[in-house]
Amino acid sequence: MVVSGVRILDRGIFSDIIVLMLKLTDERRARGPYVVIECPEKIPCDPCVEACPNKAISMPGSMIELPRVDYEKCTGCLMCIPKCPGLAIFVIDETPDDYSIIYIPYEYLPRPKKDDIVQGLDREGKPICEVKITKVIDSPKFDFCAILGFAVPKDMAQKIRMIKLR
Ligand code: SF4
Ligand code: SF4
Repeated sequence: MVVSGVRILDRGIFSDIIVLMLKLTDERRARGPYVVIECPEKIPCDPCVEACPNKAISMPGSMIELPRVDYEKCTGCLMCIPKCPGLAIFVIDETPDDYSIIYIPYEYLPRPKKDDIVQGLDREGKPICEVKITKVIDSPKFDFCAILGFAVPKDMAQKIRMIKLR
């Protein structure tokens, strides 16, 4: 659901995320890939701040605050995804006409391969629909955390956050 350019996530537990996404306008979503940080707990943690080469992530006050995103600085470069120990960072690209692409952190082995069809799951692990892997980035500098990109139906971009191999 979109209200005044703010995408409302499904569950009350994510109310803080809604605040973090307040400046994510429809115009920005249409312009290119953008980061989504789903970090609902205030814990002393801040690797995401250092991970961003564009200084798009900040933590005003202290490292126990929730991270904030400047969507004018975020280029959707993916670099923050594998640096989050909580696997709480995603990037979404809504620019393709017929589908959206979700990029997620993925620590399991074996990795899926490009063009594999896998099961897309929601935040609670519930199956949503089949999705097609579009990209696998598996670099040693990411400390065994790969980045997977997969194509999903347009209306699933804010629902699917995990995959399960078939
Ligand atoms: S996707 Fe790239 S530019 Fe955007 S917040 Fe993450 S590291 Fe920064
Ligand atoms: S690195 Fe991840 S868990 Fe830590 S504050 Fe940033 S988003 Fe939250």
